[in-house]
Amino acid sequence: MNLKSNEPFWLLKNGLINSYPSLKSNEECDVLIIGGGITGSLIAHQMVNDGYHTILVDKREIGNGSTSATTSMLQYEIDVPLFELIDKIGEKGAVQSYEACSQAIDTIDQISKRIKSDAGFKRKKSLYFASKKKDVAWLKKEFEARKKAGFKVKWLSAEQILEQFGFENTYGGILSGQGGSIDAFQFAHELLMYNTKKGLKIFDKTEVLKVEYHKGFNIAVMESGFHIKAKKIIYCVGYESKDLLKENFVNLKSTYAVVSEIENDRFKSIDSLLVWNTDDPYLYMRTTDDGRLLIGGGDEDFYGAEKRDSLLDKKEKEIIKALQKIKPDYHFYTDFVWAGTFGETKDGLPYIGEHKKFRNSYFVLGFGGNGITFSVTGMEMASLFMKNKKHPLSRYFKFGR
Ligand SMILES: Cc1cc2nc3c(=O)[nH]c(=O)nc-3n(C[C@H](O)[C@H](O)[C@H](O)COP(=O)(O)OP(=O)(O)OC[C@H]3O[C@@H](n4cnc5c(N)ncnc54)[C@H](O)[C@@H]3O)c2cc1C
Repeated sequence: MNLKSNEPFWLLKNGLINSYPSLKSNEECDVLIIGGGITGSLIAHQMVNDGYHTILVDKREIGNGSTSATTSMLQYEIDVPLFELIDKIGEKGAVQSYEACSQAIDTIDQISKRIKSDAGFKRKKSLYFASKKKDVAWLKKEFEARKKAGFKVKWLSAEQILEQFGFENTYGGILSGQGGSIDAFQFAHELLMYNTKKGLKIFDKTEVLKVEYHKGFNIAVMESGFHIKAKKIIYCVGYESKDLLKENFVNLKSTYAVVSEIENDRFKSIDSLLVWNTDDPYLYMRTTDDGRLLIGGGDEDFYGAEKRDSLLDKKEKEIIKALQKIKPDYHFYTDFVWAGTFGETKDGLPYIGEHKKFRNSYFVLGFGGNGITFSVTGMEMASLFMKNKKHPLSRYFKFGR
């Protein structure tokens, strides 16, 4: 599957950070991680830290799947509002899911410091504003649900949003204390480089074609014919899992992003803020650590890469129009525009767990607008899986739920 259009900003900004050899002999390990995006990199970090002999393979260059196209907003807020998630899965699971995403931001902060990351992790507040008057009632309900659950939230009126952030034509919104952003492409590379020094082996341009299941181990056979024998396999294959797993568990969407240099004096505190709204599809934006404004939106059902990419011009206009609604006097000069594919689940939650058709294996599939924070939660869950233990969120993130 083609996961992105040609020119995501992060690929151009960073270039080819690091390349690895492809597999040219048979190998053996405790854990084989399939997929070298942000998820596989985080899981590899965990596995190495837990002391397992770990190998990671990717059929592309590292980070060249969705990880190169992401807007990398780190949010504790899931695409499905907390009050709705409570209705869907109960209060305990819903609050725990939100808390896990919040904890994930702290974890990324800690890992960034530990590996001396240069990927621009920054803590930010998050503004979720009502773009239509009719959205105010449910957004206030959402505010109350989050407050009750103990999250640091404040309700801001339209006037307060204008005064504090300079956005016009909103109808009020929730300001949260927890949030962040990072360059996930660079971070994935940094994590892998850090862990190769601790024994992690990486092979890129190495595609797993099939897996043979044996008692107590698996053999992953590559396109080249070489194989890796592994006690466990952790699948971090992103949205291409849709090709691997036949059940209908994720709805693929196309999403679009634009980047421009920013006139800072025309915004207020934008550099320390994540912004998203109640439109469907929603608009989301943040700044990058090199001083640009990154805006995403325009999501629609995915009908193939060609159709997705043919809409780039139209979607760019749509996104800029949505920005102009809240910044009517601001001229956005597009520097980069790209499209990516992502997956949406009915409850906004990821699929992290075992699958009955894949023995000795675990899946970490972070979906939706919180793909990255879910993958961080996946580190802890995968670590417990290796010890034959269950995580409290396993029942909410499992296949067949
Ligand atoms: C435009 C856009 C905006 C987004 N915004 C956000 C956001 O703001 N915040 C957020 O948290 N999330 C966001 N997401 C989602 C987030 O980007 C994804 O959750 C995340 O990048 C997924 O990372 P991954 O490592 O799981 O998948 P990928 O980066 O796709 O990595 C999977 C890897 O597996 C490899 N692979 C697949 N099959 C095989 C095989 N058989 N053999 C070997 N290798 C294989 C692929 O080559 C690929 O490199 C966004 C996504 C897009 C597209």
